[in-house]
Parts: sequence; structure tokens; C-alpha cells
Amino acid sequence: MTSPPSSAAACALAAPAAEEGALLCIDLAAIVANWRDLCARHGGAVAAVVKADAYGLGAEAVARALAAAGCRHFFVALLEEGLALRRALGEGPMIAVLNGFSPGHGPGLLPVVNTPAMAAAWSGRGPVLLHVDTGMERLGLPMAALDQLPPLEIAFVMTHLACAEEPAHPMNARQRERFAALRARFPGVPGSLANSSGIFLGPGFASDLARPGAALYGINPTPGRPNPMRCAVRLLAPILQLRQVAAGTPVGYGARWIAPRESVIALVAAGYADGYLRAAAGRAVGVLAGQPVPVVGRISMDVTAFDVTGLPAAEGEPIELIGPANPPDALAEAAGTIAYEVLVRLSRRCRRRYL
Ligand SMILES: *Cc1c(COP(=O)(O)O)cnc(C)c1O
Repeated sequence: MTSPPSSAAACALAAPAAEEGALLCIDLAAIVANWRDLCARHGGAVAAVVKADAYGLGAEAVARALAAAGCRHFFVALLEEGLALRRALGEGPMIAVLNGFSPGHGPGLLPVVNTPAMAAAWSGRGPVLLHVDTGMERLGLPMAALDQLPPLEIAFVMTHLACAEEPAHPMNARQRERFAALRARFPGVPGSLANSSGIFLGPGFASDLARPGAALYGINPTPGRPNPMRCAVRLLAPILQLRQVAAGTPVGYGARWIAPRESVIALVAAGYADGYLRAAAGRAVGVLAGQPVPVVGRISMDVTAFDVTGLPAAEGEPIELIGPANPPDALAEAAGTIAYEVLVRLSRRCRRRYL
């Protein structure tokens, strides 16, 4: 995974000063390139899921860049997210609200109708997306509820895959069959099926509108296989202090890490208050001078220690905590979570720079 040198250089130029803390570089060109890549792979239109502030990366900036590249469909989770996005994008693109909302509360937004009560409330009030559950048992009307459906102006009939990141899982074929049956009940109505990983399940999972989120932001939609997407984030934190410690010296809260040999420890200005997940201690690495450097001891709120023994480290220089060579998926694995959670937890405290 490499980013073009231009964006890497731009981020390096923006290397944070010690007193400024961590710097989050968000590569909008990489997000646009990922959207174009997904468009080329999917046999239908491709929306952008920008819920939760575009997975923490900034819904307004991300959606503006994608709209400028030609994206015409956006999904958010909440009414407030939809209203903010409409202000940012102006008229034109479709904005659908996955959690739905009450009539009158979101002019210019399309509700995703998930329940029979919402279907009744929206009857005769304009277009909706009809979300039908095909096996995930999360949101969506049960298939059986379609028999009592009131008249609705359905822009898309949609469903959501439960196991798309596991290509061999039998749920995928089962949900695809149920979706086909669902489409047959609404002839001529466009359908929306795949999320990021669903696009990679092959042409059988194509529909009129895919709804990727994660893959746009560089998260691997094919876990266990090489990541086909471009990394869109870089989290840099400056070295505040270098310490030389003798073998046997405990480092950090709880004295949990004991130097196995004489070591050089770099203390950097980022911690769990920046979204550098505390659970990743003991397994996470940073990157310094192109080399992986392990986190040592506990990750604290504002400071994390790395073993930089033998590397050309200097106070004021940045260590890359997340980036193309050290992607969100790697930090997620270290922390026992998924890269989605890594991104949405990147905190407001990190200064942000859009490339
Ligand atoms: C979040 C969400 C998506 C996007 O999923 P990714 O795995 O991030 O691509 C698509 N559809 C629905 C209904 C969602 O809730």
C-alpha cells in the first residue's frame, strides 16, 4: 500500500510541533480514488455512506469531494447528519437517512423506512427507501410485513448483508436469494444491496446502488486478503522526549514493561484521548524512518512510549501511528477491534489537515 509521494510529502511538511499534539492527515484524493475504484468494480451506481461524520474523517469535506467527483447518492444514519449534509451539498444529490425519521422533520431528505409504523407514517408523503430484512435481523421490515404495506413511493428497495466480509458464509447466498425474491415483488423499482465487502462478492451481488462506507476510507473490504483500497489517513505524533533506559528499567504506568536491554524510548504526544486505542498496548507499532517501532508499556491519555533503539530518532520528529505502512486495520487487530472503530474514535483533539 503506498500513497503518492505528493500527499505523503504534504503530510510530512505538516509534521506537528510538540505543543500541538497529534496531527491527522486525511487524503481526500485517496477517498475519491477509492470511490472511483468501487464504481469500476460494481455493476451499478455507487453511493457513499458518510454516517458518523464519514467514519470520523469529516462528512462535509468527504461528501463535497465525492460530489465533485460525481457521486449522486449519500447515506447517513441520523436526521441531524442528513440536515448538515444537505447544507453542505446543496440541492441535487440524494441523501438517505438509514435510521429513518418522522414526516415533517427532514425536508429534502429520504427516510429509510425500517418498520411497518414508519411505512404507515410515510404513506402519501413522498419518496422513501424501503429497507427489508433478509436475514440479518437488525433494521428493516420483515418480508411478511410486505403483505400489509400501505401505498408508498419507493425510490429504492434495499437490504443489508450480515456476513459480506466472509465470502464463503452461507448467509450471503441466502440473503441474495431473498433479495431477488424481494425485487420480484417490486417490479421496476431499483434495488440497493452491497456494502463495501458486498461489492467484492462478485457480480451476483450487484444492484442499482451499492452503499460502501469502509472501503472509501481505505479499510480492507476483503479481510485476510491484500487490501485493494488506498489508505486515506495518517496519524502523526511528535516525539516530546527521548530517554535512554538501562536493561531492567520499568517504563510507564503500572511499570508494566521492563526494558529487556539498554533501550531508547521515544515519548510521543498522542494517547487514547486522541483515539490511539489503549487496548492496543503491547501489540501496536508505529513507524519511524520506515521501520516498525513497538509501543512499550501502557498507552496513556496524552502520551505513548515507543522503543526506538538503534533508529535515528530526534525530539520533535514525528512517529506515524497510523498510515499507509501501518493501516487502521493493523491498529484494530492490535486492539482486538475492527478498523471501523479505529476511525470513528479518532478524536476531535487531533488537528486535522485535508490533502
Ligand atoms: C453502515 C452501513 C453501510 C456501509 O457499510 P460498510 O461496511 O462500511 O461499507 C451500508 N448499508 C447500511 C444499511 C449500513 O448501516
